[in-house]
Amino acid sequence: MKKGQLAAIAKEKEDVRRKLAVTAKQLAAIAREKEGIRDKLAVTAGKLALKAKQLAAIAKEKESIRSKLATTAKEKEGIRDKLAVTAKQLAAIAREKESVRSKLAVTAGKLALKAKQQNKIETKLKESEIRYRRLFETGHDGILILNSQTGQITDVNPFLERLLGYSKSEFLNKKLWEVGAFKNIKASKEAFKIFKEGGHLRYEDLPLETKSGQSIEVEFVSNSYMVGETLVIQCNIRDITERKKLELVKETDRLLEEERLKVASIADATHELRTPLAIIKGNVDLAMQNKSKNPKAPRSAFRAINYEIKHLSNILSDLTLITSKKGELQNRIVYDKINLRSLVTVVVGRCKAIAYKKNISITARKIPSLIILGDEVYLEKMLANLIKNSIVYGNKNGHTEILAEESRGFVTISVSDDGIGISKEDLPHVFERFYRADKSHTSDANSMGIGLGLSIVKWVAEAHGGTVNAKNMNKGSVFSVSLPIKADTTQ
Ligand code: ADP
Repeated sequence: MKKGQLAAIAKEKEDVRRKLAVTAKQLAAIAREKEGIRDKLAVTAGKLALKAKQLAAIAKEKESIRSKLATTAKEKEGIRDKLAVTAKQLAAIAREKESVRSKLAVTAGKLALKAKQQNKIETKLKESEIRYRRLFETGHDGILILNSQTGQITDVNPFLERLLGYSKSEFLNKKLWEVGAFKNIKASKEAFKIFKEGGHLRYEDLPLETKSGQSIEVEFVSNSYMVGETLVIQCNIRDITERKKLELVKETDRLLEEERLKVASIADATHELRTPLAIIKGNVDLAMQNKSKNPKAPRSAFRAINYEIKHLSNILSDLTLITSKKGELQNRIVYDKINLRSLVTVVVGRCKAIAYKKNISITARKIPSLIILGDEVYLEKMLANLIKNSIVYGNKNGHTEILAEESRGFVTISVSDDGIGISKEDLPHVFERFYRADKSHTSDANSMGIGLGLSIVKWVAEAHGGTVNAKNMNKGSVFSVSLPIKADTTQ
């Protein structure tokens, strides 16, 4: 090996040693630094440990706070729940309060209304009390008030004082039968017993004697009612002397009118009887005078006499019928089963002769073939009178129609015509005895009526349990009769 190379290597070795020394120094410095750092780290670790401890303590505290908070939250929850319940209860209470308030309002309203009504009632009571008092004081009826227990008079109105002539003091505190005027009520004590039992007592016409001895007739009515706890009897006493007088006058008038009608009827009947008698007499005279001159004369006179006698006997039998007592007539009725259709056919047949003279047509359609329990003779007479009237009071070339309708156990037979009709004033009277609406028709030779025909119709209908009716039509009139159909007699 060359010396230069060795020197280079030695130099290089020296460089390395120097460098190593430097590095050693640097390492020592680094070691020192490391130591410093370690110390610092140790301090930092200590600090960290402390901090960790502190943090742990804080965490613990936080935990405790959190748990406290949780507890508080729970409590809060509990409280909120309780509050919610309380709120609900309060709401319910409020609602209840509201309903109570509204009920109270309704009750208050009702009470107000009641108070108002009460007020009204009280006012009305007061008014009626005033009215009663006024009536009591000024009325034209005597009023007595009795104590129901003792029968003593507790009040009397001025009218009764004047009516009976006793003063108030003569009435008060006396028993009813102790007052002169009532002494003669033979049963006044008995009557009081009836009052006492709360009954109602009425005397239609009670004779009383006034203090001056004058006799008066009164209507006596008693009623009892409660005044508070006590039963009171009120007797109303009305002076009916005037009314009685008026009634008497009316009754006398009625009897006089009846008598007048009877006399008029007798006069009418006499007149009606006189005409055929005069004709008979005339014919008898004629027959006697002409006997020798004309042999045929007596025959026609006898025919006329015969006709008038028949007419007379008809009038007499109508008169007997209409003037007999009801009971007697009822006994004359011979009940039979009468076929309505046959009855109508027979009567229409009989009336056709008089209808022919005035060219009046008669129709009787759809008459039911039902059975009436009745008297054939009277029923025929009844129907004949109606049909005959429809012809007598019908116009020439007119028409009579007969109908029969069944309803509710009755059959109504009506006879209508297109004749003169009846005035409104006459309509209610046509069924009366001897009533003639149109006097001008009385001379009709064919009618030969004396105003008894319709009263006979009425009598026959009523004797059979039926009714009659008369109506005015636009033209003419309708007369109808309703008769009962007995259940077991229909065919
Ligand atoms: P009269 O014998 O007079 O016919 P009625 O009692 O039969 O008696 O009748 C009474 C009165 O009723 C008659 O006078 C007549 O004026 C009136 N009248 C009866 N029927 C009819 C009729 N169909 N139309 C008009 N008037 C009638």
